[in-house]
Amino acid sequence: MKNPKRRSSDDTTEKLIDIESKERLSSQSIGAMSDQPGLLKEYLESSIYNTFSELIFRLTHEIYTEDKAESLWNDIAAHREGLKGKLGRDVGILVAALDYLSNISGDILNPKIIDDSRIEAVADRATRDSLTGLYLRGVFDFSLDRLIRQHISSNRFLCLALVDIDDFKSVNDTYGHQTGDKVLRDIGGLLLKNTRKDDFTARYGGEELAIIFPHTSFDDAFALAERLREDIRQYFSTDGPPVTVSMGVSCIGQPTVTNMRELVRSADRALYKAKASGKNRVEGSA
Ligand code: GH3
Ligand code: MG
Ligand code: MG
Repeated sequence: MKNPKRRSSDDTTEKLIDIESKERLSSQSIGAMSDQPGLLKEYLESSIYNTFSELIFRLTHEIYTEDKAESLWNDIAAHREGLKGKLGRDVGILVAALDYLSNISGDILNPKIIDDSRIEAVADRATRDSLTGLYLRGVFDFSLDRLIRQHISSNRFLCLALVDIDDFKSVNDTYGHQTGDKVLRDIGGLLLKNTRKDDFTARYGGEELAIIFPHTSFDDAFALAERLREDIRQYFSTDGPPVTVSMGVSCIGQPTVTNMRELVRSADRALYKAKASGKNRVEGSA
């Protein structure tokens, strides 16, 4: 068990939720949150983690001073050890904290307490599309809004690529809906595998996907999009339907793109241009 360094009580919420999880959780799960600091944690806090975060917030920000926050952390760590002895397994820090703060196991004679991996699965289900594995539209909207605000305040570039499968209707019509689903699943997998850890991939709509490239210039985002387009083309060139995608790239920081609505509209315009110019291509829009 790690001992916390002395930190301000502002950091304590993050410490309670993030410490250790960062090392343990898989990159495809809630652990990926550490790549987009606090972002998905914030999203989950706004939904399923509401009660948990509220409890911690009240204890760390309203009731506890720095010293007390540290001793609270030590108590939770000890409680986790206690639960381990009682249940014969490690429930993880999130569950131990929740149990400590709400005193569930103290109130119930024979508690059945879940472990963190179950929370991860719930978190995944709450944030990811089951077919493609990409983040859901709601998570995308939430995250893009937050990221844009961060980027504007720090004067840095952020780009968005909208991805649309070419002639997908005829893939469904020719090969069947199940093959269409597999195409979507495979493209989701390719995007997850071939993007950088800070990039944020989402299922924007039915067969439209989106990638947020934080801290990335237009030229770099365009090059990344172009590489992904070619990855997808190649993947489907050997086996099954010959699928391609078109992409539209736009960035915050360009003169006419200063907020989320303009960014999405501008990327959408670029996507339209890519379709009109023959598909299987990337276009950019200022
Ligand atoms: P374009 O190149 O202009 O984008 O043509 P398109 O055929 O891809 O576009 P259109 O909007 O005409 O058709 C989109 C199709 O995507 C129709 C819809 O049934 C299919 N689609 C959307 N979501 C899913 C899904 O989850 N699974 C499958 N198999 N198909 C889907
Ligand atoms: Mg479409
Ligand atoms: Mg399409």
